[in-house]
Amino acid sequence: MTDYQLPPGDKWRQFELYALGFRDFAGVRPDMPLDPFRLAGFANLLVVHFDQIKGLSAEARAHLLGEASEKWSGGACSLPLPDGRRIVILNPNHGRMRTNATLMEEVSHVFLGHQPSRLKVVAETATGQTISREYRKADEEAAYGTGAAALVPFSALRRFVLEGQTAARIAKHFRVSRELVSYRLKVTRLWQAYRAAHSE
Ligand SMILES: [Zn+2]
Repeated sequence: MTDYQLPPGDKWRQFELYALGFRDFAGVRPDMPLDPFRLAGFANLLVVHFDQIKGLSAEARAHLLGEASEKWSGGACSLPLPDGRRIVILNPNHGRMRTNATLMEEVSHVFLGHQPSRLKVVAETATGQTISREYRKADEEAAYGTGAAALVPFSALRRFVLEGQTAARIAKHFRVSRELVSYRLKVTRLWQAYRAAHSE
């Protein structure tokens, strides 16, 4: 691998290295946006549109897309299909920027080889229960942290910060939310440099 710059801290350095591996695998340059939908197939994940879910009552659908919409972002189902793929359902209200982070986390769980520690019932429908996988807390952090690093790599983020780019511009470039860029600035300890560049 090229001599990429890595963030400080063993844990974040490790997440960054995994993330660079995902990018290598996807054949995407470190400064270009990564499309997790392209990686989902390699991770044996089948992204199913919310409207394609059968057996959801009108009430359940209205609840999930209405008052409960902020409480779920998406997840993978526990039971694999006969061909081994797992279904991933994403909240259609959340928009592409947030959805990219949600799906990238699910891809990371698979690529990092995480095994669910338990299963959780997320919805009960007329035809049965929808079970989702739950991972250990450390695995959740690794999947989210690595997924975020894959979407917003440190070396490019650092360069953009040094160029004086705003978080909004960086978010738009990588097709992620501003919140994700802020998270990356903090965990990679670029926050102070960013704040210094944008203080008036
Ligand atoms: Zn997760």
